[in-house]
Amino acid sequence: MCLGVADMKAAAISGFGGPDVLSVADVKEPTAAGGEVVLQVLCAGLNHLDIWVRKGRPGSQLQMPHVLGSDAVGVVTAAAEGVESPKVGERVIVYPGLSCGRCEFCRRGEQSLCVNFGIVGLVRPGTFAERVAVPAANCCPKPDHLSDEEAGVLALSHVTAWRMLLTRARIKPGETLLIHGIGGGVAIAALQFAKMTGAEVLVTSSSDAKLSRAKHLGADHTINYGRQDIAAEVRRITDGRGVDVALDAVGAATWPLDIACIRKDGRIVLCGVTTGAKAETDLRAFYWNQLNAMGSTLGSAEDFRQMLRAVTVNKVKPVVDIVLPLEKAREAMERMETAGQFGKIALKVSA
Ligand code: ZN
Repeated sequence: MCLGVADMKAAAISGFGGPDVLSVADVKEPTAAGGEVVLQVLCAGLNHLDIWVRKGRPGSQLQMPHVLGSDAVGVVTAAAEGVESPKVGERVIVYPGLSCGRCEFCRRGEQSLCVNFGIVGLVRPGTFAERVAVPAANCCPKPDHLSDEEAGVLALSHVTAWRMLLTRARIKPGETLLIHGIGGGVAIAALQFAKMTGAEVLVTSSSDAKLSRAKHLGADHTINYGRQDIAAEVRRITDGRGVDVALDAVGAATWPLDIACIRKDGRIVLCGVTTGAKAETDLRAFYWNQLNAMGSTLGSAEDFRQMLRAVTVNKVKPVVDIVLPLEKAREAMERMETAGQFGKIALKVSA
């Protein structure tokens, strides 16, 4: 080991694969390169993205060990020369999108469409560490009404749900929204924002316990797909019309249902494929009913700003499933992989 380079604790992968490639070990401390700050991470949040990164994608090239994690709240401990904001000592949350700032999409403020789009923890070392370096421009003040645990898990799920519902699907008051698989971070955030907007929300799960918790968060109708036919229930609830919008973070298993459940000229917005990336589409229903299908990824810096503003004004709090110490990062990930959670899993990194 090279003397003089400080070490820190981090949850890092040593290669691509199953849960056993992840361990908590000493890795080199980051330093603030041009335009960056270093944060002492207080709390970090898990996302499905961490599983994809751990498993590796075709062409994945990461320097090992690679620190996982996209969400964090932290205190600024160092800043590169010339960085004026945030200042050392400020408590911030991180917008995890990384973009080039030069391409046609960046120039229109559409960072998540950047031709070189990346995410903290995906293309550079992540937040499951005592310290992380991030671009200063990605730091926003932590909303006062949130605890560190809540702020640490907010960013990725809530900006993703915000962009899907408000920017892409443009949900309106009084519209009906179907959310598949209530329990995941994006699905719960979407439920919160939909209720804030005044939409009528239908949620699905195979767990009565999760459906009951969704009811407490404002869900208007619940469908247990373990014993109910989702498409038939949606048609019954909407008097045969179908919902205005279907929000899908599930993928292959639910895509045919989206087609079957939305009204004529309805919208489907998809942000993830936890059940697989290949699905059949009933093209006849698609054209005859004049359906609209949209993909959505994370959100732009403006989506993030709007989301934080809405969260602050409406005192929205992310649902935290469990808080575990950084040392239990592997258990935290296993909990997420078995879909046992309701809400976000937080890793407590430092006090
Ligand atoms: Zn760009």
